[in-house]
Amino acid sequence: MDCIFCKIASGQIPSEKVYESQKILAFKDINPVAPEHILIIPKKHISNIEDLAVDDSEDIAELIFAAKEIAREHALSDKGYRLIINNGRAAGQEVFHLHMHIIGGKEYLGPMIAK
Ligand code: AMP
Ligand code: ZN
Repeated sequence: MDCIFCKIASGQIPSEKVYESQKILAFKDINPVAPEHILIIPKKHISNIEDLAVDDSEDIAELIFAAKEIAREHALSDKGYRLIINNGRAAGQEVFHLHMHIIGGKEYLGPMIAK
């Protein structure tokens, strides 16, 4: 499948990894919008939330707990950070492999930043 995040998950395309487990991978966003901008993906190809099945529940739970752990490792836990999933074209989803943005490291990120 011609999916850039599947290729990152399989190692075909390099990434700056920050966390990896059997089901989940996290890597730095190539075009950061804040000092800390990390993407977390399930290794399994899921296009977005609309494509989620009940069987994916463990992956999604792990994604959230990984975000919490990554935030801690990047000293964001106390300061605060955003977790964003762009879902579908109207939301600005560019890569159709489910991913959650972790964005932090700015004192105030604004009420409605795009990413
Ligand atoms: P979204 O608009 O939610 O689909 O976000 C896609 C994100 O993927 C953007 O923030 C891009 O900067 C990021 N991105 C695209 N290609 C890569 C890549 N090869 N490595 C890391 N991040 C990427
Ligand atoms: Zn994919």
